[in-house]
Amino acid sequence: MCRVAFIGLGKMGHGMAGRYLDAGFALSVWNRSRAKAEDLIARGARWAASPEHAAADADAVVTMVADDEASRRVWLGKDGAAAGAKAGTLAIECSTVSHRQALEMARELNSRGLIYVDCPVTGLPEAAASGKLTLLLGADPADLEKARPYLAPLCTTIRHFGAVGSGTVFKLINNLMGAVQIASLAEGLAIAEQAGLDMNLVAEALATGAVASPQVIRHSKRMVARNFSGASFTAALRHKDAAYAVALAETLLPGVPVSRAALATYHKAKTHAPDGDEGQMIEIVSKPKRWLKPE
Ligand code: NAP
Repeated sequence: MCRVAFIGLGKMGHGMAGRYLDAGFALSVWNRSRAKAEDLIARGARWAASPEHAAADADAVVTMVADDEASRRVWLGKDGAAAGAKAGTLAIECSTVSHRQALEMARELNSRGLIYVDCPVTGLPEAAASGKLTLLLGADPADLEKARPYLAPLCTTIRHFGAVGSGTVFKLINNLMGAVQIASLAEGLAIAEQAGLDMNLVAEALATGAVASPQVIRHSKRMVARNFSGASFTAALRHKDAAYAVALAETLLPGVPVSRAALATYHKAKTHAPDGDEGQMIEIVSKPKRWLKPE
């Protein structure tokens, strides 16, 4: 039986971990706060006292935590997964981390005999819980083949971009472009509101016109209605991704003024409501006196 340790049971990780139970894997779980694991334990997962304990008998350790700091803590902290995993264990990092972090973790974990697989994902929590994610892989082809049985329960699509770090490069570009689109959508809607347009008509026209990306379709009606219930992707996570992407851009391409402007606006959105839905961006751009003062 395939044995997986799953670490990080937030909105994404909880559903992903459940997929391993659905697929009949032996699953051990750890999360910083245990309450999020209770229903998985009731379904047959084993609770581990630490990431180290979770990794001890696993063939693959899958992590899905917030950011670089959280990833470093669960892999390399005191009682981290790296201390418990045996040589040859797959270390599958699904969290969105910075490019530098992906490369550093690969070096560190490979030096301990683990096989690092760079595996950020796209898809909302519903896709995570139903095994319909797209996985953005950066891995040696032979390592990807070893990892495939452990990736299959999570996804409908695997896109292999190349060596370790390349999956993260794509993920950061993708989410940076999402940040630009959402910030731009919020500004367009705020201008339309100031001009007195029928906002239901505006939302419908945007969502069916030439700029109708999935982001525009998803957020336009919610922004117009100021309906931010059921936050699936928070302003804080979008800001983190945009910050990692701009840091990567600085190593490759000077400037990126549009990306920087979106990052600055997301900084304000994160400050306004870190755990709120990223669509609350509309609140920032429609109240310029309050938010658009120099920092
Ligand atoms: P979330 O619901 O906020 O969950 C974050 C997870 O990280 C929780 O398990 C949390 O533990 C853990 N964590 C945070 N700081 C930690 C620390 N210092 N030490 C240990 N654990 C820590 O976020 P999410 O939406 O599941 O996102 C998880 C990752 O997936 C992020 O990298 C995000 O960018 C990426 N992602 C998200 C989406 C989405 O639609 N939400 C889509 C694609 C990718 P607690 O439960 O104890 O707080």
